[in-house]
Amino acid sequence: MSDQSISENLASVMAQIHEAEKKSGRAENSVRLCAVSKFHPLESVVQAVNAGQMLFGENRVQEACEKFSGLNEMLSAEGKRLPELHIIGSLQSNKVRKALGYASCIQSVDRESLLVEIESQCAKLGRTVQVYFELHTGEESKAGYPCVDEVLKSAENFSRGAYPHVVPAGLMTMAPFVDDEKTIRKSFESLRMCRERVNSEFPDLPVKELSMGMSGDFRMAIEEGSTMVRIFTVIFGHRS
Ligand SMILES: *Cc1c(COP(=O)(O)O)cnc(C)c1O
Repeated sequence: MSDQSISENLASVMAQIHEAEKKSGRAENSVRLCAVSKFHPLESVVQAVNAGQMLFGENRVQEACEKFSGLNEMLSAEGKRLPELHIIGSLQSNKVRKALGYASCIQSVDRESLLVEIESQCAKLGRTVQVYFELHTGEESKAGYPCVDEVLKSAENFSRGAYPHVVPAGLMTMAPFVDDEKTIRKSFESLRMCRERVNSEFPDLPVKELSMGMSGDFRMAIEEGSTMVRIFTVIFGHRS
């Protein structure tokens, strides 16, 4: 995909996000765009950064770190601000340390043992990181906590102070890949209701973000309360 089309695609997606915000009575810029740059080389990310995009999502740690080490080096040399990187794909415990080298948020937290590892690595590094709880709401893959009760158990551990170096800032889900609008909306609604449960049972936790909505369903996700959409195909095209 040419440089020009990446910036044009970004502009078009932003316009559609604003339209959906307006349509659903949401404030302008209440929804952030996480540009998913998987499968694409450093050059594509640079084009997006030049077009003003400052938040990226990657689902493979190795690929993300290679790309963002190059990117950060390049931008630092030019004295430019570095974009934010979120890990959005399922994460093995042995990759946590590496992920923390570049990511400010891990959106794909789906089990207690992963939180234990994130806490342990952050404590060693003397830093904090944001996480989102990923909830399985019907997508074909089995990614995510299997049910709301499991999310609540993790939230309870946060509330007890088990993870002082980890900030539970939101929730994430992937809707099923189906045509039926009702099924998709139900998935987004489940994530919103999960946030309500967490907020009412653990009002001390800063769980606010709803990361939901992808290329095919982000307008619907915004209508259902999404605060962050993760978009790949309509910005970068298919695998480069
Ligand atoms: C690839 C990916 C997206 C974006 O997918 P598109 O539908 O192509 O925009 C969002 N979330 C996750 C976890 C992904 O892996």
